[in-house]
Amino acid sequence: MGTLPYPFSPFPATKTHQIFHPKTPPFPFPKTHQRSSRAKHHKLQTSKFGNFLHLRPESKPQSLNLDLPLWAPHDRSPLDVVIIGAGPAGLRLAEQVSGRGIRVCCVDPFPLSSWPNNYGVWVDEFESLKLETCLDKTWPMACVHINDNKTKYLDRPYGRVNRERLKMELLQRCVSNGVKFHKAMVWEIEHQEFDSFVVCDDGNRVKASLVVDASGFGSNFVKYDKPRNHGYQIAHGVLAEVEGHPFDLDKMVLMDWRDSHLGNEPYLRDGNSKLPTFLYAMPFDSNLVFLEETSLVGRPVLCYMEVKKRMVARLRHLGIRVKRVLEDEKCLIPMGGPLPKIPQSVMAMGGNSGVVHPSTGYMLARTMGLASVLAEAIVEGLGSTRMVRGRPLYHRVWNGLWPMERRCEREFYSFGMETLLKLDLNGTRRFFDAFFDLKPHYWHGFLSSRLTIGEIVLLSLSLFGHASAPSKVDIVTKCPVPLLKMMGNLALETI
Ligand SMILES: Cc1cc2nc3c(=O)[nH]c(=O)nc-3n(C[C@H](O)[C@H](O)[C@H](O)COP(=O)(O)OP(=O)(O)OC[C@H]3O[C@@H](n4cnc5c(N)ncnc54)[C@H](O)[C@@H]3O)c2cc1C
Repeated sequence: MGTLPYPFSPFPATKTHQIFHPKTPPFPFPKTHQRSSRAKHHKLQTSKFGNFLHLRPESKPQSLNLDLPLWAPHDRSPLDVVIIGAGPAGLRLAEQVSGRGIRVCCVDPFPLSSWPNNYGVWVDEFESLKLETCLDKTWPMACVHINDNKTKYLDRPYGRVNRERLKMELLQRCVSNGVKFHKAMVWEIEHQEFDSFVVCDDGNRVKASLVVDASGFGSNFVKYDKPRNHGYQIAHGVLAEVEGHPFDLDKMVLMDWRDSHLGNEPYLRDGNSKLPTFLYAMPFDSNLVFLEETSLVGRPVLCYMEVKKRMVARLRHLGIRVKRVLEDEKCLIPMGGPLPKIPQSVMAMGGNSGVVHPSTGYMLARTMGLASVLAEAIVEGLGSTRMVRGRPLYHRVWNGLWPMERRCEREFYSFGMETLLKLDLNGTRRFFDAFFDLKPHYWHGFLSSRLTIGEIVLLSLSLFGHASAPSKVDIVTKCPVPLLKMMGNLALETI
C-alpha cells in the first residue's frame, strides 16, 4: 500500500495505518540461529529502555499468489462499476456485485498485498456470513475486567480473522465472477451525465457507469455537507513473542479497564482517569499474544505516545516481558460524525461510508453483510432489464445503503459514542458493568449493529434499569446534550 492522504489525521506525517505484514497462522518465526542473536540484542534493548517500544516488527509484507485478470486500456467492452480499493470493503463489494452479473473493475496499486490490520470479530457474525472458515483462531469466551475486583465473562465466542485466507477467498470469487483488476492509484474522478472516469497515476482513465470509492478512511473522493465532528479511536497493537503472560488461553480479553499499573505513575494515572485506555488481548499460546492498548473514543484524539506509555506501564505491571515484536499496528479510526452527503455522484463503501460502528470502531463484519445490500441496489439500477444511470442511479444506491431507518439507527449508535465521550474512567467502568449485564440479545445486537430502533430504545431503558446509582447520575447529568443532539439530527434526517 502506498502512503495515503489523511486529511483529518492529527498526525499529518503518518500513514493511514502502518503496514507491518503478518504471517498467519501458524506464525512462523525466523530461523532459530537468527533468533538467539536477536533475542540477546533485544534483551539489551528491553533492559536498557525498560519497555518494548524500540523493538522493530520482524514480519515483512507478504504478497498473495494468484493470477489476476487485468483490465486492458484498449479493452472497449464497457464496465458497469469501477471500485476503488481492494481492502475488505472493495473486494467484498466486487464479489457481491459481479456475482449478480455486473461488469466490475477494481483499482488498487497493490491488489495482492495482504491486508495490514489485525481483525477481530464475533464468531456468530462470521458464521451468519458463511465466512467462519476465514477465522484462524477462536476463543469460546471473552472477558472484560471492569476493575481489580470485578471481571465479566462473556459467553460469546470471538475470533481472529485470517487476513490472507479472507482476502484470497474474496479474490478467487471475484476472479471466477469475471472481475478485472487494474494496478494503479486513483488520482481523481471525473463525472459526465451518465458515466464517470477514474483517472489513475499511470495515465489511464477507466470508464464506468458507477464509481464506488472503497479506499478507506483516508479517502478524498467522498464529500460531506456537514462539519466532520468525528470521535477517534486510537490504539497501539503488537503481535509479540513474550516470556509468559497471565491470560487464560480459552478467553480473549475484550477490555481490561484496570489501572493498578499506573500506581507509580501519577501523571499517567491522572490522564487515564480522565481519558481512559484499556487493554485488548488475544492469547494464541503461552508465548504468543496480540496486545493492544486502546482509547475507545476521544475527541480530540488521545496522543499516540501517551497510549504507548500506558501500554508499557501496563505490560510491566502484568509481568509481560516482550522478547520479540512480530508485527505492530497503529490503529486510528474516525467514528460517528455525519454521513457523507446523500446522494452524490461517487458511491462509498467501507471505512469512508459511515458504516463503522460509532461506539466501537468495528466495521469488518458489518461491511461484509452490507455489501450484498448495496450490490442489490446497484443491480436494481444497472441490471440488464432497467438501465438507470446518472442522478437516479446515485440516488438509488445511496438510499439503498442508507435508507431512512438505517440512518436513524446510526443516530442512536452515535448517541452511544457521544455518551462515552463524556465518561471518565469510573463512568466508563460503570457503563460497561451495566451494559454487559443486559440480556445477550441486546448487547450482542448493539455491538453487531443489528438492533432495530425499537430495540435500541428498549436497550436504553434496560441499561438505565441495570445502572448503579452513580451511573444513573451520569446518565441524567451527561446524556441530555447528546440526546438533544441526536433528536436534532433525527429531525434533520426525517425532514
Ligand atoms: C489498525 C486497525 C485495526 C482494525 N481492527 C478492526 C477489527 O478488529 N475489527 C473490525 O471490525 N474493524 C477493525 N478496523 C476497522 C476497519 O474494519 C478497517 O479499517 C478496514 O480495513 C476498513 O476496510 P476498507 O476496505 O474500508 O479500507 P482499507 O482496509 O483501508 O482498504 C483500502 C484499500 O484502498 C486502497 N486505496 C487507497 N487509496 C487508493 C486510491 N487512491 N486508489 C486506489 N486504491 C486506493 C488501499 O491500497 C487499500 O487496499 C480496524 C482498523 C484499523 C486501522
